[in-house]
Amino acid sequence: MIKRTLREVAAMCGGELRSLEDAELMIQGITTDSRSIIEGCLFIPLVGEKFDGHDFAGDCLAAGAAAILWDKAKGSPPGPAVIVDDTLAALQRLAQNYLKQSKARVVGITGSNGKTTTKDIVFSLLSTTYKVHKTQGNFNNHIGLPLTILAMPEDTEIAVLEMGMSGRHEIELLSKLAEPEVAVITNIGEAHLLQLGSRLEIARAKLEILAGLRPGGTFVYDGDEPLIQEVLSEPATLKPDHFDTVTFGLLPHNDDYPVGLMFLDDGTVFTSSAGSNEPLHLPLLGQHNVVNCLAAIAVARYFEVTEASIKEGLTQIKLTGMRIEIVKGRSGITILNDAYNASPTAMKAAIGVLENMKGYRRKIAVLGDMLELGDAEDALHREVGAFMKGGKVDQLFTYGILGAKIAAGAAGQLDQRSIHAYTDKVELIEGLLAILHPEDIVLVKASRGMKLEEVVEAVKNSE
Ligand code: ATP
Ligand code: MG
Repeated sequence: MIKRTLREVAAMCGGELRSLEDAELMIQGITTDSRSIIEGCLFIPLVGEKFDGHDFAGDCLAAGAAAILWDKAKGSPPGPAVIVDDTLAALQRLAQNYLKQSKARVVGITGSNGKTTTKDIVFSLLSTTYKVHKTQGNFNNHIGLPLTILAMPEDTEIAVLEMGMSGRHEIELLSKLAEPEVAVITNIGEAHLLQLGSRLEIARAKLEILAGLRPGGTFVYDGDEPLIQEVLSEPATLKPDHFDTVTFGLLPHNDDYPVGLMFLDDGTVFTSSAGSNEPLHLPLLGQHNVVNCLAAIAVARYFEVTEASIKEGLTQIKLTGMRIEIVKGRSGITILNDAYNASPTAMKAAIGVLENMKGYRRKIAVLGDMLELGDAEDALHREVGAFMKGGKVDQLFTYGILGAKIAAGAAGQLDQRSIHAYTDKVELIEGLLAILHPEDIVLVKASRGMKLEEVVEAVKNSE
């Protein structure tokens, strides 16, 4: 993590020391959260909708913070401080300069779905050969990304950074801040359709990652998505003068695609068309994770990780929680817990995983609302319902008002007696537990706000 004198901090973030007496004060680590002060850290107060961090600065100093950043419009600071125009911009500049002063090479990862998963796989593959730092959890926005960078150990060789957004020009800011040498777009989905209006506009927002790509760097992207190619050739797309491209995907026109794909209960086996003939065992479920894995392998090859190390690295993957994990319930029942979040693409991917699970008595899907989809929400929920045609699931339980549209879309595809729509979670849990059998497999998925982990817990604890 960052360790600098306050004088250095002031220079790095473009601020001024409150007093020269503070100049040689050493700070170690950054926090923006007044509840988690670590001894000797720099507290950076941010101004939010409900709270202004400046109000807590005195407490933070009392709790052990060595110094603070301070907005010059807020009067005089309560202790050792660097005075700045805007604390958020200063945080970002501090991170940018910390990264520049380090020898770390940067991988930036964006996309509608699969960013965190791909980041975790990239981390695992690169860690076979390098000292790697990665985004913790989902710290991927204009605050999380700088904090991730500032938490990076000084001797990091490669930083793997997730870049998230909810509108235009956010990825541009993150990419210009981090200046990745490798930029990855996992895919273009429908997440944030509400804010952006169309998939084309979502693609444009993701391709902003090229705005900060270093000249001569490499752009790794989902070659099965024509919109990426389209936006790449738009004159308005900001990009370096020269860079290489590597495409991945399921189709054979890509630079890398899976061959001999086999779905197992504990993962997937395939060979990479661009690699050796050795089969790779990916301990993650679902076709979508094969695609994420190919993206990660492309990054590893860029950094010249050997094929043997790639194979080894795949066995070491540690995912950030609640992304389609298999959970065994007390009764022996199998749960596919994907309650972390949902968008239509992700929902279909998860249904695909359920479809490919073999050896279970019945396949049961518990699906809830997908939020933030804008005008298209009705149609997109119905589409997920219709996607279940051909016996992909045996029983469908939906939760929520939008969830009911999934049920409506499934009408005619599934037997009507197998479709159960609820708007009350307690009733849903009761109805679900009443029909469960220990040999069933249950997929649980919805947007974060729907908190379907409560269903997972109930199924897990049922006898
Ligand atoms: P967030 O925007 O919340 O940060 P993310 O892009 O980091 O999401 P992950 O957390 O890796 O995405 O995955 C979230 C869910 O998206 C997974 O549980 C899975 O259902 C789905 N998903 C992951 N990768 C893909 C993919 N390549 N294509 C479609 N769906 C995917
Ligand atoms: Mg994420």
